[in-house]
Order: sequence, then structure tokens, then C-alpha cells
Amino acid sequence: MGKISVLDEQLANQIAAGEVVERPSSVVKELVENAVDAGGSTIDITIEEGGLTLIRVVDNGSGIEDDDMKLAFFRHATSKLKSSKDLFRIASLGFRGEALPSIAAVAKVECISSTETSGLGKRLAIEGGTITAYEEANTPQGTDITVRDLFYNTPARLKYMKSIQTEIGHIADYVNRLALAHPGIAFTLKHNGSLLLRTLGSGERLQTFAAVYGSSAAKAMLPVEGEHPDYDLRGYVSKPELTRANRNGITVIVNGRYIRSFIVNQAILQAFHTLLPINRFPLAVLELGMHPSLLDVNVHPSKMEVRFSKEPELRQFIEESIGKVLGRQRHIPGPAAP
Ligand code: ADP
Ligand code: MG
Repeated sequence: MGKISVLDEQLANQIAAGEVVERPSSVVKELVENAVDAGGSTIDITIEEGGLTLIRVVDNGSGIEDDDMKLAFFRHATSKLKSSKDLFRIASLGFRGEALPSIAAVAKVECISSTETSGLGKRLAIEGGTITAYEEANTPQGTDITVRDLFYNTPARLKYMKSIQTEIGHIADYVNRLALAHPGIAFTLKHNGSLLLRTLGSGERLQTFAAVYGSSAAKAMLPVEGEHPDYDLRGYVSKPELTRANRNGITVIVNGRYIRSFIVNQAILQAFHTLLPINRFPLAVLELGMHPSLLDVNVHPSKMEVRFSKEPELRQFIEESIGKVLGRQRHIPGPAAP
């Protein structure tokens, strides 16, 4: 008799959860990204105790069809990817079909959703991967999902959690950046009853920026605009007088996705080069648009890292676009002065 057996679904989900659900902010990220993909105009996020006792995300997007409710919690079940061709031109934030089953494997989840304006919908409760309720529910169009007692059945992971302050810090940082990426969506974030963020969803990125960093910082921002056959760039960088002690004030968005990119950060800093004192960094929020085929987002389950296919061109384009705004020109050797 052979020794190999295929893991059952529940165990496979718990293992995947180890990668997808590192801490409360990972749950917030996955739920909020689903809400963005659902195309609504408001997303309300409620957190208790750093997300360890409660994370609730309510959107007014498309909602989940009756027939899809249970399927949404199955591994590799997604409405966003159909064939391997799609993998090379991903337009949505999600596509792996792993988030909901992973979260449900390590928490108590309640999902209420309706695709109808009539308000007729479904409520599904699932605990540690086991469905405990499935019934009709009256709810406005959209999805209302609550995650309670995260890691209740994985004590090793729970023990590893940092303070409530640290966890809400990670959550707020992520929500702030996603709000900057989607100025057309009105976000609220509440923690233990206090409001940490409210954006208006007017579509004005500078207004969202002011909600995150304050209106005096917003006044010190310069608009950036760049065009290139393969890319476009929009956003704001701070005037060189407004600096910070670290790089955390730089937010890079690619096709609506907040990402971390060493390459893009380097290009931004290079554009400022001698304009900033040593060890001081700018504030920036920059959105890059490009054809999805120029970008590989399937590098890590968190989808925060991406690979660009034409790095040197991209770097130069970003550096030059920002350099122009800062009044810097690349030194082009011209005819010698008379
Ligand atoms: P993915 O986002 O990679 O597709 P998820 O596990 O996060 O995988 O979600 C599974 C599916 O559930 C999604 O493809 C989508 O069809 C549905 N879904 C999840 N959240 C929402 C939501 N807030 N609104 C509408 N549909 C949703
Ligand atoms: Mg998702």
C-alpha cells in the first residue's frame, strides 16, 4: 500500500490559510478587495480589538448569486478567472479563489448577500470550514461579511499576534492606501467605535489624500502626469520642502492595485535625488496604468508584489515624469555655449 493520500478540502484550506491569512490585516485586505471587485460605491469597514474579535466589511456592489453563495467558500472557486489565458491579463484585484475558503477555515464567518434591489438574499454561516446555517435573509443589494474570532482554531497563529495597536495599525495602513487607489469609492473605517477614516468617494484623489494625510499635506502636493506608449502615470508628489523620515508615505498603485515595488520606489527617489536632505523621503501617491499583459501579479498569494516586463523603460519614464514636475531636466548634452 502506498503512503501518499490527497489532503481533504478542510485541511488543504487550513494550510492555504497559513499563507493567505497571516494576520487580521490580511483578512481586511481580501474582503475589501472583493468589495472593490464587486463594483459598489461604498465600503464600510468595522473592526473590534485589532480585528481579532471582529472584522466586518459591507459593500453595495453586485452581491453574490444564490447559487454561488456556498461555492464562493470552496477552494479555487472564483468568478474572475476562466481560463489560463486570463491569467496574463488580470483586471480584477482577486483571481485565486482562495481568500474566502482560507478565512472560513480559521474563523467564524457570516456572509449575507443579495443581488436584488428587492432585498431578498441569503445568509450563510460557516465556522472552521463547516457550514452551520444557510437561509433566506432580507438585506440591501450588496454583501455584508463578518469574520469573528480569527485563529480561534489555530492557537499557534493566535499566539503570534502582536498588540491590538499593531494590528489596527496594519489594517489602517492598508485601508488608507486602498482608499487612495480608489478615490471613486466612499470608505469608512471604524475601530472599537471610533472613526479612523472617512473618504467621500468623489473621484478626486487629492480629496482622499487629504482625508488620509490631512489638508495641509494635501496643499503641499504637486500633480504628476505622464504619457508613454506603454504606460500612463497620474498622481501627486510632495514639494521637496515636505519630507518624512521614512518611505511609508509613498503609495504606488498599478491598475487599481496597491503594490510594493522596489523599482518604482527607486525611480521616485531618483527623481528627487539631490532635492531632499539625506535620509528624508517624499510623500507620493502615484497610479500607473498599463496593459495587464505587461504585468505579472501572480508572484505571491498576497498579490502585493508584481513583476513588470519592461523594467528599465518603466523606471526611466517614472523618473522623467516626476523630474519634470520638480523642475529637473535630464542632462542632455547639447551644443556647446558660444
Ligand atoms: P477571488 O476574489 O480570488 O475570486 P475569493 O475567495 O476572495 O476569490 O472570493 C470568491 C468569489 O466570491 C469571488 O470570485 C466572487 O464571485 C465572490 N465574492 C466574494 N466577495 C464578494 C463581494 N463582496 N461581492 C460580490 N461577490 C463576492
Ligand atoms: Mg478575493
